[in-house]
Amino acid sequence: MSKTICIDGLEIELTKKRIKRMNMRIKEPDGSIAISAPYGTPDASVVDFVRSKRRWIDKNVELIKKKAALHPEPASKAEKEARRRDLKKRIAERLPEFERATGLSCSGWTVRDMHTRWGSCNTKTHHINLSLMLATRTDEELDYVILHELVHTKVANHGAEFYAMMDRLMPGWKNIRKKLKKT
Ligand SMILES: [Zn+2]
Repeated sequence: MSKTICIDGLEIELTKKRIKRMNMRIKEPDGSIAISAPYGTPDASVVDFVRSKRRWIDKNVELIKKKAALHPEPASKAEKEARRRDLKKRIAERLPEFERATGLSCSGWTVRDMHTRWGSCNTKTHHINLSLMLATRTDEELDYVILHELVHTKVANHGAEFYAMMDRLMPGWKNIRKKLKKT
């Protein structure tokens, strides 16, 4: 059984179940809060639980909302495909320019629906994967990820040689990486 309760202005969906300990979840993408508690837990215990975690809750709700605003879930499969098409077009225009300008080259590239990384490079085959998340990023940010992965076709790790090459090819890359990391 579920009910909505309000604690210090936070709306919480409370579900009592056959579990041993109370646990809380902040849902993506709207930042709504759900708590599961063992049967028989008094509401006062739930209130204490929420108050003791209030800072953590506020921080994470804000993070989830920020993330959702930056990467809105596509309304439909069609929209996701439209994004993928647009991103592929941008990459097809920009990546060969970087290859020409740097002399680095990949054997091919794929846009993948990855959520934890912006890109990856297979250092054996030199195939590059770029995240669909880049569809909502600026050209500058896309360029940084493209170049980063292209450099991996030459240098597999993130050692001094890698960074020296990034410095030479894109002097402002650290600031762009900061923008990507902030989200
Ligand atoms: Zn890397």
